[in-house]
Amino acid sequence: MQVWFTEDQTANLRISVRVRQVLHCERSPFQEVMVLDTVEFGRMLVLDDVIQTSQRDEFAYHEMMAHVPLFAHPDPRRVLVIGGGDGGVLREVLRHPTVEEAHLAEIDRRVVEVARRYLPELNAFDDPRARVFFADGIRHVEERPDTYDVIIVDSTDPVGPAVALFGTDFHRAVFRALRPGGIFVQQSESPFFNRDLIRRVQASLRTVFPVTALYWGVVPTYPGGLWTYSVATRGPDPRAPRAGAWEALRLATRYYTPEVHRAAFVLPPFVADLLPSG
Ligand code: SAM
Repeated sequence: MQVWFTEDQTANLRISVRVRQVLHCERSPFQEVMVLDTVEFGRMLVLDDVIQTSQRDEFAYHEMMAHVPLFAHPDPRRVLVIGGGDGGVLREVLRHPTVEEAHLAEIDRRVVEVARRYLPELNAFDDPRARVFFADGIRHVEERPDTYDVIIVDSTDPVGPAVALFGTDFHRAVFRALRPGGIFVQQSESPFFNRDLIRRVQASLRTVFPVTALYWGVVPTYPGGLWTYSVATRGPDPRAPRAGAWEALRLATRYYTPEVHRAAFVLPPFVADLLPSG
């Protein structure tokens, strides 16, 4: 008998993956946490029936979330990841030797515990520079003005506790939590299916930060496969990777290169349409 998992990616679009085995399923205080062993994508973390990450395509997303801001910043030392309980973004952040402290603020302790067990290749939690806070990311930034060089939001879709992570009050708190020259990135969903959300996030960032931009990457398990990342800075140009830095580190990245970094900011017109004018 064949077993399939189906995610409703929009009201009118579904994706199905063939499942070898359900490795884990529980209800945490925040959401249903499931790990599937799938035929096409390997192990997959699913929260409230929404695919979060898979062994096959996780590198594409995690590398673009972490390396674009960390190579655009002149000297990233203190980094915060909000959400990201699977550990993938944290793992990429910690590949940068300038990073002295990498904090993760994840609201759901069970996501971290389950990912540690079933997705150990994403795990960087034991690095001595890493510190995990089981807390709402909004409170976390509100309580830490002038603290971080880079803040990355690797959140679930804008439902439940993630809704406020896409709003202007949060963006103001992020601005205050960044040190001068700081960089903020947040995953901002699909340019095919979440156009209003991207417009809202971009407009909100524009009211708070002097520099804002949008870049894109490919993630096959997310709706439409083409994904956006909204970025805002307190000065640096996010489009420009630090000259020679990636080469000097000899990072064996599978998606990110400095050329991919620059190219990711070249937007097809239907995506450029989502940016605020002027
Ligand atoms: N890469 C995935 C995606 O784009 O679909 C997201 C992965 S990560 C597992 C998302 C995490 O964000 C979840 O574990 C969830 O518990 C966490 N989260 C949602 N809202 C949050 C908040 N307000 N503060 C901290 N973590 C939050």
